[in-house]
Amino acid sequence: MDFDKTRSATDAHRGGVWLVGCGPGDPELLTLKALRVIRRADVVLHDRLVDPEIIALASPSAQVIDAGKRCGRHTLNQSAINELLVEHAHAGRHVVRLKGGDPFIFGRGGEELDACRAADVACRVVPGVTAALGCAAATGIPLTQRGTASAVTFITAHGRHGELPDQYWPAIAGPGRTLVCYMGLRQWPRLRRQLLAAGIPPALPVAVIRAGSRADETVERCRLSDLGPCPIDDRPALLVIGEVAAQAPAVGLTELAKAREPLPAGATC
Ligand code: SAH
Repeated sequence: MDFDKTRSATDAHRGGVWLVGCGPGDPELLTLKALRVIRRADVVLHDRLVDPEIIALASPSAQVIDAGKRCGRHTLNQSAINELLVEHAHAGRHVVRLKGGDPFIFGRGGEELDACRAADVACRVVPGVTAALGCAAATGIPLTQRGTASAVTFITAHGRHGELPDQYWPAIAGPGRTLVCYMGLRQWPRLRRQLLAAGIPPALPVAVIRAGSRADETVERCRLSDLGPCPIDDRPALLVIGEVAAQAPAVGLTELAKAREPLPAGATC
């Protein structure tokens, strides 16, 4: 594995870090490059959203570390992860950091890359299918469509301190646009209030996709004004807000509108 072709021959013994996107769940969405990199790993450090089948692609001799990241409940915090990456690479190992979706879409891949650069560790990135694309494909919602949606925006509802980050909503939501919200369920009531206050039409369709591309995938459709607090379960969930969301299968159309119970204590994302 050539980490950095600019390194001199005397550096050849040095290890490095690969940040590898593993897609939204279905292991078959892994790229061939990711597969090659995983097979040659000395150390594999994975997060919670990575399918066990993907981790099992590593050599039996590879050391596997579960970073077990869970929104709000990290078993290894980000600086501990950064330190591990650097430490193993400095020891001359090929370290493969497996991340759900794409490393650079709400995946903190940029922070890990910065940590490697700061420690003079070679670091390369393998892109993955981000949840928005995986969920769109799995549920048959085209994120753009001629005449219906000419722009798509990905946002997170989970800012640095868990808050809903500020956006100028009329520019990114409404007719003709698709808004995809990661980590959106916990902040949904606030997000919905802000969208309605910004003049986004109450009848705009919303799809809630849980575990997109996985065997336990579900998709529910609603209207912006009807969708109350969403029950949170263990699965990752994505909100697609825009006219294209009406193209999701009409499963559970009314269930979410009825679900008005308070969020479970300690629920995250
Ligand atoms: N880097 C990842 C995103 C990590 S943030 C990517 O590119 O996809 C984690 C959030 O992604 C989850 O809380 C959820 O909002 C979304 N997500 C990841 N996988 C998902 C899936 N299979 N179905 C629905 N949402 C998913």
